[in-house]
Amino acid sequence: MNPWVIEAPAAVAAAAAGLAAYGAFYPRAQLFGATVCRTNSARKLAITFDDGPNPAITPKLLELLDRYNAKATFFLIGRYVRECPELVKETVARGHEVGNHTELHPNLLWMNPTKVRVELRLCHDAIRGAVGTPPKWFRPPFGMRNPWVIPAAGELGYRTVMWTLIPGDWQNKPAEWLIPRMQPIADHAQVQLGNGSKDTASATGDVLCLHDGGHRELSADRSRTLEALEHWLPRWRDLGLEFVTIGEAVSTPAP
Ligand SMILES: [Zn+2]
Repeated sequence: MNPWVIEAPAAVAAAAAGLAAYGAFYPRAQLFGATVCRTNSARKLAITFDDGPNPAITPKLLELLDRYNAKATFFLIGRYVRECPELVKETVARGHEVGNHTELHPNLLWMNPTKVRVELRLCHDAIRGAVGTPPKWFRPPFGMRNPWVIPAAGELGYRTVMWTLIPGDWQNKPAEWLIPRMQPIADHAQVQLGNGSKDTASATGDVLCLHDGGHRELSADRSRTLEALEHWLPRWRDLGLEFVTIGEAVSTPAP
């Protein structure tokens, strides 16, 4: 028998599995629905923080961001929002945006549509309860999507936000390890905004994914994330970058 006849179904299955894995894991994959993963200008850097609010870190982070007139987006865990509603209010009052990062931070890849909806709805209600209005942005825990995650978020009016760079600040490594892993932001800015660079109007900017909290405990130590930002914010600013929320990252200024 022609071996292709036997092997073809296996090859097709393997290719389909590979494609599904790409759609589930790859941050800029659009297979399971459209996501935001870049800003609309090389000048705009969208810094995002996941897994908060964190009473041990978020207040210090808000101070640091204010020092550089930086606006950011915080993807919050619903159960932490219920514990620290004032901190969420404060975050929004300072001009930042908040987004939905589910209630309990499960891996949505293996959850059925009903459970996915419950995770989204509980966090949605927690944030609305804290700040008065529901958020517009959603980021799936671990970046994991399946065919019904993005549509379920869409039902609640969300756009799903991924990233261009995720340096791995949740790892138990020193700031000296983390800082060079954020270098690509400066490299992109240098290429796109540096002297003599071509027209930047059509170029896009980065969405950086950091963590001010930890999904396992409320007061996770993220001091190295703060240290790395203290290093980079003045340098990125001097390269001509503006630190914007996701809403600003995708909006076009009025002509
Ligand atoms: Zn997370």
